Amino acid sequence: VAHGHHPRRVLLKLSGEVFGGGSIGLDPDVVSDAATQIADAVRAGVQVAVVVGGGNFFRGAELSARGMERARADYMGMLGTVMNALALQDFIEKAGVPARVQTAIAMGQVAESYIPLRAIRHLEKGRVVVFGAGAGLPYFSTDTVAAQRALETGCDELLVGKNGVDGVYTADPRKDPSAVKLDHLTYERALADGLAVVDASAFALSRDNGLTMRVFGMGEDGNITRALLGEKIGTLVSR
Ligand code: UDP
Repeated sequence: VAHGHHPRRVLLKLSGEVFGGGSIGLDPDVVSDAATQIADAVRAGVQVAVVVGGGNFFRGAELSARGMERARADYMGMLGTVMNALALQDFIEKAGVPARVQTAIAMGQVAESYIPLRAIRHLEKGRVVVFGAGAGLPYFSTDTVAAQRALETGCDELLVGKNGVDGVYTADPRKDPSAVKLDHLTYERALADGLAVVDASAFALSRDNGLTMRVFGMGEDGNITRALLGEKIGTLVSR
């Protein structure tokens, strides 16, 4: 994708599960480590936007399965992502790099509203932009939002950081021991094989708009920085 800008610009998707460190709520050590790695990449000249999930607080589908109205549960899920965004902003700034949060649901005391051109301006000035509150729309996931924000802010690549896996496998490696890791895969195959490592709607949006995606594991120390700098770790997904 040609964007007419020279420095590498990427969108990093971090799932909420990561921030929780395996439980509900926030593990500040985990957030601090991710923030330090992001700050290192920014200092090396990469423009970094981030979409954070909220699975460490609430997932709308799970609350709705237990009796809540789905849309309201999804709004709770989106509010959870805002807490993660604020925590990440805080630790990125402590690591010495300016950061802004922009939310898809207006909350002026807490964060800027999502304004794409302003987000691009922040990126050009070397500020990290953390997008919170998903798309502001129930029934959407933060994976899909990550692809959308990457496209709208002119990112060169979508980087999806995963916990517990180091890329895309032919099947879920936690369930199927014969699963094999793939270095490259097409969106068509990801969708046809029902590979659920990233949401189908995120695969489809990326395919339709020529955005490449790299799925990598965060288990190894320093992998977030490596992915941000463009090292070919994990699995490349493209057309
Ligand atoms: N969500 C939503 N619309 C969005 C993004 C998120 O309704 O545009 C809600 C949804 O309920 C989801 C929750 O926010 O379950 C947390 O996001 P997600 O599950 O994508 O977080 P992750 O799995 O990445 O931690």
